[in-house]
Amino acid sequence: MTAEAERSAAEGNTAGHGKLQWRILIGFVLGLATGLLTYTFAPGAEWVGTVVTYVTGPIGQIFLRLLFMLVIPLLFSALVVGIAEMGEIRALKAIGIRTLVYTVIVSSIAVAISIAAVNIIRPGDGVDPVAAAELLEQGGEGAASIVEASANSGAGVNQLINIVPSNVISAMSNNDILAVMFFALFFGIGLLVVQTPHTQTLKNGIEGIFEVAMKLIGFVIQLAPIAIFCFMFNLSAQFGWDLLAKLAAFVAVVLLALGIQMFGVFPLLLKFIARKSPAAFFRETREASLMAFSTASSNATLPTALRVADSELKLPPRIARFVLTIGATANQNGTAMFEGVTVLFLAQFFGVELTLADQVFVMIVCILAGIGTAGVPGGSLPVVALILAGVNVPPEGIGLILGVDRFLDMCRTTLNVVGDLVAAQVISATSADEAGPEIAGT
Ligand code: ASP
Repeated sequence: MTAEAERSAAEGNTAGHGKLQWRILIGFVLGLATGLLTYTFAPGAEWVGTVVTYVTGPIGQIFLRLLFMLVIPLLFSALVVGIAEMGEIRALKAIGIRTLVYTVIVSSIAVAISIAAVNIIRPGDGVDPVAAAELLEQGGEGAASIVEASANSGAGVNQLINIVPSNVISAMSNNDILAVMFFALFFGIGLLVVQTPHTQTLKNGIEGIFEVAMKLIGFVIQLAPIAIFCFMFNLSAQFGWDLLAKLAAFVAVVLLALGIQMFGVFPLLLKFIARKSPAAFFRETREASLMAFSTASSNATLPTALRVADSELKLPPRIARFVLTIGATANQNGTAMFEGVTVLFLAQFFGVELTLADQVFVMIVCILAGIGTAGVPGGSLPVVALILAGVNVPPEGIGLILGVDRFLDMCRTTLNVVGDLVAAQVISATSADEAGPEIAGT
């Protein structure tokens, strides 16, 4: 990016940034409070359903669709330009390998923590059978369609093959993010090795797409406070706290495991490897956390994460873009942890004894699943159904946790997004030589 373009993008990105954070927080708190009041004083009232169906539900959906609409152009252009700006294959290789090694190691730590927590606390042994039967019945149809979708998605080798798209347009139209990422990586490498005046023009054009997408997302994000009000209202007005209480032990174990990763592992990585104050990091990434928590989607939060990396953490753009765009789908610590806890919880609940070998299988699958799960709300659920079937636990059991999934999704997505930003910070700090003079100055 030219110095001037970079400056103008940064200016555009930071304009009104501070105020927006507060507006988002206000939307969040007001939505939650209004929803809980409604749930307390008018539980199950008909008008609540009407408001959710015709007002707050559609507003939230339109906001998410506006973001998703811009995700493919943003993801493609950010990744292609990120790679092309590495300057040479050697730098790309070094940063790519670091990103991969980081993802595998940190995801393994995450999954190990979650599996240890479920084995020690054993939340599946303590569920009240009457409440469980009720929940399973309520989950009925939703669970059946998730199980069916996961069975149709084809496991193992096929999923691996599908990462390579045979038709990039259909991959884009099916929102097949991993396949689009593969194409973008491949295209970026092409652009890196063919350096002619024509490819320079093409690179400038793709960079233009990135700048336009970021600008448009900046407009859409202005709606975030209203949309987030709606998300929180929908959730709390319909469900209150009841469901959380019924599955308290399960919810507590998921939160405990996520908390250890967020406030134990991440600060250690930041302090000792990235040499960054964890308190400052959490403060500077607040907006991305809030966005992730409210939308429950890493992909929808990608633009905010890119902006935060740029204007708050001041990371070198080529590394931040590369790590964050790949990480939004491939580095999902929270998702991997949630999948591990849920599978073992349901196995305990249904009395299926998992041997050590089974647990190691679950662990490996969860690490890979963290890479393959779509960064959209509820992206984990078909993956959980798939793993359950693999270890002979009834996949319909997923119905048991559907009612609390949205809340846990919000929490795990926050960890996913913060984890990507930690990765970007750590990889930037350890790649000073590959990133050229830009890093040296930051
Ligand atoms: N909602 C998560 C995300 O977007 C994926 C999942 O775990 O369901 O990161």
